[in-house]
Amino acid sequence: MTAIATEAAAAREADGATIEFRGLRRSFGATVALDGLDLTAHPGELLALLGPSGCGKTTALRMLAGFEHPDSGQVLVDGRDVTRIPAHRRDAGMVFQSYSLFPHLTAVDNVAFGPRMRGVGQAQRRSRAAELLDLVGLPQLADRYPHQMSGGQQQRVALARALALRPRVLLLDEPLSALDAKVRLNLREEIRRLQQELGITTLFVTHDQEEALSMADRVAVLRSGRLEQVDAPEVLYARPATPFVAEFVGTMSRVPATRTGGADGTVEVLGRRMPVTGPVPAEGELDVLVRPEALRVVPDRQGTSRVVTAAFLGAVTRLTVRLEDGTEVKIDIPGHAVSDLPVGSPATVSFPDHPVLVDRRVA
Ligand code: ATP
Repeated sequence: MTAIATEAAAAREADGATIEFRGLRRSFGATVALDGLDLTAHPGELLALLGPSGCGKTTALRMLAGFEHPDSGQVLVDGRDVTRIPAHRRDAGMVFQSYSLFPHLTAVDNVAFGPRMRGVGQAQRRSRAAELLDLVGLPQLADRYPHQMSGGQQQRVALARALALRPRVLLLDEPLSALDAKVRLNLREEIRRLQQELGITTLFVTHDQEEALSMADRVAVLRSGRLEQVDAPEVLYARPATPFVAEFVGTMSRVPATRTGGADGTVEVLGRRMPVTGPVPAEGELDVLVRPEALRVVPDRQGTSRVVTAAFLGAVTRLTVRLEDGTEVKIDIPGHAVSDLPVGSPATVSFPDHPVLVDRRVA
């Protein structure tokens, strides 16, 4: 059997674990890191924890690893309360942002470290470590020290080390953020492939929305220590539950809107009624939120809008267009349409027919 087949068979035997956070609270002095976090990861899924800096992602992960303890609430693995179980007795493999390999040990000894601590014999742990290095595509680097490896290679070894004890859960804390863009993309795909083949329940902390959307089965968006929304990437993008999620995941433009007065679920934007999804705040000035691909723009000599900037993004070009009321919106157009809409040219913008989110205007 190949290394991956052996691992996958072992993982299937063990079956992915269910992880539950129930009402987790944790404060550090006056800082509330977790404010009643409820979240479940299903067996075998890769669940990304996404959110702005300081929203509690790492604290949640550390509680699952046993490095941190909640003031109240519980952590359950397969229904078993592990909240008070010390880290070394939990069944979790972890990879951190910074290369956390032991500098004085070779790759193979780094990977074999966990099994060694568990009293696994030398021959067995070295063959296991070799298997795992094979799994992460680095069999030829077994005898290298960390300083003789690139960042990407070190993170692969860290991944192999995290998997060495066949953990029930894999915890990844921004494992790619120190790597350059190309290596990061490769490793994203590899981690995902490995995770799916092994069927290991994985929590992945990141503040990079593209990383979360491209890798995860589901993405949990955290805000100020609470869960804002958890959904599959495409749902999160297409149907964000709140303005916070809408603006954190992908790009959104805000356009001033007014209440129509009736209870027909519409607001008025630039003299036109638009259907609304979600609640309309009862007080204050309003904005609607629209995605760059939901707006349409055409060249129009009589148009009241004007192209302000154009940013080439590869498949599309993202225009900034100033509307008649002075609001600037982002609009994606296909590359071939760019020459018809040069910067400074007049245009007409049309809004989507589908319901849009409404939020209170931010000052
Ligand atoms: P980042 O993306 O910046 O890593 P995060 O979402 O992972 O952020 P946490 O590291 O979980 O956030 O931190 C949540 C809050 O708790 C932050 O305000 C942080 O400063 C604070 N915090 C976390 N650990 C400690 C600690 N040991 N002592 C004091 N404050 C802490």
